[in-house]
Amino acid sequence: TFTALMIEDEGGKPKAAFKQITIADLPDHDVLVEVAFSTLNYKDGLAVSGKGRIARKLPMVAGIDIAGTVVESRSDKWKAGDKVVLNGWGLSETEWGGYTRFQRVKPEWLIRLPDAFSLQDAMAIGTAGYTAALCVDALEAWGTIAADQREVLVTGAAGGVGSTAIALLAKRGYKVTAATGRPETHDYLTKLGATAFVDRATLSEKGGPLQKERWAGAVDSVGSTTLANVLSQTVYGGAVAACGLAGGADLPATVLPHILRSVALLGVDSVMAPIAKREKAWERLARDLDREALSSITRVEPMSRLPELANEILAGQVRGRVVIEIGK
Ligand code: NAP
Repeated sequence: TFTALMIEDEGGKPKAAFKQITIADLPDHDVLVEVAFSTLNYKDGLAVSGKGRIARKLPMVAGIDIAGTVVESRSDKWKAGDKVVLNGWGLSETEWGGYTRFQRVKPEWLIRLPDAFSLQDAMAIGTAGYTAALCVDALEAWGTIAADQREVLVTGAAGGVGSTAIALLAKRGYKVTAATGRPETHDYLTKLGATAFVDRATLSEKGGPLQKERWAGAVDSVGSTTLANVLSQTVYGGAVAACGLAGGADLPATVLPHILRSVALLGVDSVMAPIAKREKAWERLARDLDREALSSITRVEPMSRLPELANEILAGQVRGRVVIEIGK
């Protein structure tokens, strides 16, 4: 037997508990993976604390990320010994996830661990970091951030998506402004490449529909009034890649930035992103995320601390990324 963090039904509510399970309990997918590391993302915080209904069927093994080694495969795509990474694909929602020593998964969900990274590095990146790369890919495909000399804004800057986005954008030579509510993280964010700061409180209050044009582009992991203000402050023709809701799932905005300034709102989803987009994002990470930046954003925690860590991330107290060591 081995330990898994399961979400179960307790009187109609989701509740997390450590359970002993066996390989025979796992879903009947084609590839058996021994999980070395998983991660803690905002969504994992919602699932493990029970504060969000992430699991759509119970019981559910939580954890949206996996880095590990293939043990057995009924698919030609993978063989025993292959080092693999899995982000999203409904893990912790409709499919059993990564907070377990072993998991069975579908072959098409896996990507090969990039040569540049160890299994632990891959989880230091995790869904949050890979989503940051998807956001930068979306902004570069749009084009304005390369053409316009003005700054690129990153909201939720000290969080997992934000920290990685700053490092990736700075490496490409963009001027990065960080919006954070934690002034004590300024030194950390400066080391990652931020050159200016905005107090997040100034973005969370309702502002006018067309404000001074400041940002050539933005990566937003906060949503709500913050995203509405960011759109209102984006330059003519600029774009905002929106991936998160740490500040709320609403969007109290007008169409004016879109119809008067051609500002684009680029939606970014990591969970069901097709393989080609994933591979491109991981190539960017391998190329542009240096090891020093990666280790400065990361801490490693044992699986046993997940219940406390879940509350910490929802309270906005986690800085950068948390790797979860499985079996500890
Ligand atoms: P995280 O580490 O907790 O980062 C979120 C950051 O947002 C916090 O560190 C904090 O930054 C800021 N924040 C928190 N509460 C806030 C509030 N009430 N108002 C304004 N800012 C607030 O979480 P994460 O794992 O990076 O994820 C960030 C968001 O992206 C989450 O909403 C997550 O669900 C979403 N996400 C979406 C996808 C996707 O596929 N679309 C993938 C990954 C993540 P400061 O302390 O610097 O202010």
